[in-house]
Amino acid sequence: MHKGYERSIASYSEAVKVIPGGVNSPVRAFKSVKMNPVFLERGSGSRVVDVDGNEYIDYICSWGPLILGHAHPSVVQAVKETAEKGTSFGAPTELETKMAQLVTERMPSVDIVRMVNSGTEATMSALRLARAFTGRNKILKFEGSYHGHSDSLLIKAGSGVATLGLPDSPGVPDNTAQHTLTVPYNDMESLRLAFDKFGEEIAAVIVEPVAGNMGVVPPQPGFLEGLREITEKYETLLIFDEVMTGFRVDYYSAQGRYNITPDLTTMGKVIGGGLPVGAYGGKREIMEMIAPTGPVYQAGTLSGNPLAMAAGYATLSAMTQEAYEELERKGKRIEEGFRKNAEAAGIPHHINRVGSMVCLFFTGEKVTSYTQAKQADTERFANYFRSMLEAGILIPPSQFEGMFVSMAHTNEDIERTIEANRVALTALNH
Ligand code: PMP
Repeated sequence: MHKGYERSIASYSEAVKVIPGGVNSPVRAFKSVKMNPVFLERGSGSRVVDVDGNEYIDYICSWGPLILGHAHPSVVQAVKETAEKGTSFGAPTELETKMAQLVTERMPSVDIVRMVNSGTEATMSALRLARAFTGRNKILKFEGSYHGHSDSLLIKAGSGVATLGLPDSPGVPDNTAQHTLTVPYNDMESLRLAFDKFGEEIAAVIVEPVAGNMGVVPPQPGFLEGLREITEKYETLLIFDEVMTGFRVDYYSAQGRYNITPDLTTMGKVIGGGLPVGAYGGKREIMEMIAPTGPVYQAGTLSGNPLAMAAGYATLSAMTQEAYEELERKGKRIEEGFRKNAEAAGIPHHINRVGSMVCLFFTGEKVTSYTQAKQADTERFANYFRSMLEAGILIPPSQFEGMFVSMAHTNEDIERTIEANRVALTALNH
């Protein structure tokens, strides 16, 4: 029995007095599911417990980083042991090299890598580097893709042929936005038109190799290959934003899964094992333009922080090839269970999944782009979210985010989740 949300509601009313909207990142406010946010107190394995004492099987998993689940013993141990030796030095440590060695081994295209503190910093820095390397100003991104909140990347998705961007958020200067072109995801035709017109001016194309910020949208066959080809033709850098997909969708990340070699890769989430980390890396000749080897400035007081390196190293070390096979199986079981339930309940649906990223869209149409994702019934999603929550299943509070399956989810957790999904979908039709 769900114990209600009394204390979460009280905590929220205290929080809004001192934190904008009561949260430190907007989607946590549960606005799109039309309820007060649930305040969490602790987590272990696949479970989290809220301040009212309700336990949930968690599929937010900190929005991706917790591929081993909450408070995994080897991660906690690594953080504890490291903390006892000092939490930050502002001088190099051997742990940073060890982590960089591990990342470069697993990321086929990454010769060398620089650590930062978030995905936003990683993409922002990769763009600066791409602009410096090519001597060009424009960048191209895809509609509905999120690459963090730096000015150049917070650009409204236009439609059809690339149009010169307008700021998505007040505060982004027009003269920054105008350098960002946007085209629909998976749309080679629009991409070609954009390159016909602006190709020689485009420093970089930045792409989520599996889009994870418009729900989950896999690349259509040929899309990533087409991107690689056209960027090579125009000497534009190809940046894979693997902040979400990196070490999540495959042992060798999305670039390994799809066998494409980008020029630069941005990372975050899983490589920090739940501590604040981002990274960017790629071809040596490009990366060595960064200070101190080159003139492109980028720095960070806490970059390569020992606690974050220790948590990330412990996480990646536990993620063997077999672990990814297990995640694939679990993701597939959820996908099949949900599909069967939606069919039985007669709910229009479309399920996209890549490995352990799973998204149930409330639309009967195929979803390969942001325009299609936006057709989903968000009202219906909000009702669905609330019934899942009451049944003890915490999924991301937005139709435009996927569920993250972790190693900590047991077969029993997954069967319980599928049963809750069946009940919730059936109730939607009554
Ligand atoms: N890129 C992608 C693909 C992301 O999914 C995110 C975060 N969801 C970011 C960049 C930004 O990362 P951060 O929130 O760590 O700044």
